[in-house]
Amino acid sequence: MLDGGGASAYMPLAMAELDLSRRSSIAAAPPAHPAANLAGMTRDALKEALVRAFELDPRKARMRATQIWRWIYHYGATDFAAMTDIAKDMRARLAERFVIARPEIVERQVSSDGTRKYLLRMGPGVDVECVFIPDVGRAGALCVSSQVGCTLNCTFCHTGTQALVRNLTAAEIVGQVMAVKDDLCEWPSGGDERRLSNIVFMGMGEPLYNLDNVASAIDVLSDGDGISISRRRITVSTSGVVPQMRPLGEATSAMLAISLHAVNDPLRDVLVPINRKYPIAALMDACRAYPGVGNARRITFEYVMLKGVNDSDAEARELVRLLKGVPAKINLIPFNPWPGAPYECSPWARIEAFADIVNRAGYASPIRTPRGRDILAACGQLKSESVKKRASEIRRARAGAP
Ligand code: SAH
Ligand code: SF4
Repeated sequence: MLDGGGASAYMPLAMAELDLSRRSSIAAAPPAHPAANLAGMTRDALKEALVRAFELDPRKARMRATQIWRWIYHYGATDFAAMTDIAKDMRARLAERFVIARPEIVERQVSSDGTRKYLLRMGPGVDVECVFIPDVGRAGALCVSSQVGCTLNCTFCHTGTQALVRNLTAAEIVGQVMAVKDDLCEWPSGGDERRLSNIVFMGMGEPLYNLDNVASAIDVLSDGDGISISRRRITVSTSGVVPQMRPLGEATSAMLAISLHAVNDPLRDVLVPINRKYPIAALMDACRAYPGVGNARRITFEYVMLKGVNDSDAEARELVRLLKGVPAKINLIPFNPWPGAPYECSPWARIEAFADIVNRAGYASPIRTPRGRDILAACGQLKSESVKKRASEIRRARAGAP
């Protein structure tokens, strides 16, 4: 079980520390000619890489990039030799300079309900989790991480107990999708059945603190000549980074989800501490102004049900009042426990009573069935062992001290 942090089951913590120290030394002295990984690159980055490697003129580079793009993102090719519409000598030159690689799947767990949780290694000491949930959306949804850990400390969230290691790059976000597509045999060679239709940024991290990379990743994932997941099937969840909400909508046209969880500021200040900076009224204004919002593009409000904390009838009524004028649907999430969590999940009857009030006011308010609870893959249970090391700890590890 990945309980208490993914890596511990397969990598002793001491090793993880060693790896972290190695990461810093790699950063200090990169190899002379590292083979660049093309998988995960945006179209522009791919074109630029070709221009630089082969001194191609921009028109030729664009044409070549279009060919390679289709092989990488439509067919899922991992080998230049497969690219049969590219001349043999060019394929060989590509293979000398580049690779097409995925993050390493360090651990894969399959829940009794079919949910799959992956621990992916982005580099030494940098592990993230992502979760595939079947039968969500048109076929299945992949919940991806945007950061290693999270700087915010929502008190009910396991990821929040893990210090931020760093933002993921766009390529690392796309890499999660590609690694899972490999595992699901989701490329054209694997047959017609579509298993992955939706992407949700609800894994580790706060996507709006890493907006540029999230937006570039969405450009790659939604490109019709490649992975081709429509922007309307990509949802970005935020704890409420108000100033970044409009830029998110403008840059990505993605669907928006808000982790609301409380209907008054004093309680939300505790549960979702970013509320102290951007209180509920400012958050709701930003929702009303979200680009493209309307009845066909509703905002999802996530509301975790915490026993005796935020689950009263009065709070359900207040929720309805708060959402007036916002095209919304509400996801009631039974709290997913994790070791040491200071909360309990509301009893089922309480969740249903709460849902009833919201429903009667005309809002869809499905109770989200917890998925993958047995492997700690459910919302808010993700946590990896990648923790930010203080400089002194890294020095100690390098010196071989215990
Ligand atoms: N940082 C972003 C996205 C990741 S969290 C955000 O907070 O929106 C994805 C969702 O899981 C959020 O709605 C979060 O509040 C919820 N969540 C976190 N911990 C949970 C838990 N223990 N049980 C149920 N939902 C949880
Ligand atoms: Fe971070 Fe989201 Fe968890 Fe809050 S709920 S700690 S913002 S991942």
